[in-house]
Amino acid sequence: MFDCKKCIDKCKANCCFLHVFPIIWWEKNKKHARNVTELHTLDDAKLVLTKEMRCAFFDKGMMGCAVYQDRPETCSKFGLIDQLPCPWQDKDGKLRTDKETKNILAQADEMFKKMRGEIREKGKQYTIGESENR
Ligand code: SF4
Ligand code: SF4
Repeated sequence: MFDCKKCIDKCKANCCFLHVFPIIWWEKNKKHARNVTELHTLDDAKLVLTKEMRCAFFDKGMMGCAVYQDRPETCSKFGLIDQLPCPWQDKDGKLRTDKETKNILAQADEMFKKMRGEIREKGKQYTIGESENR
């Protein structure tokens, strides 16, 4: 069975690189965001970037999510659906080979690069206000 905690020491929360949040969710949780360096708005979503490209809600101290109980739906599906594969274990909890891990990490990197490029191109950039720059 898939168990996220099984390899948390190894993965260092490798999936916590989410950058796009529904606006309603963002407005509710933005007070918990940290180190935001760039913010773009589309019709119903926010692109939120940090210098390290980690998710703005990732808490380095506890190596986990600062809003875990209210995390976006995407995050709760990580590792459990084909579109969001965990690099370290498959849906049944079987640990992946080094080669599989490397491939998934490379694919994710590529996907994020593409997504950031597209949203930056289409999105409207906002100046980061005090309340959003934590
Ligand atoms: S889903 Fe995978 S990458 Fe994400 S924290 Fe769990 S074990 Fe790590
Ligand atoms: S919202 Fe939380 S669970 Fe989702 S990517 Fe960010 S830190 Fe990880």
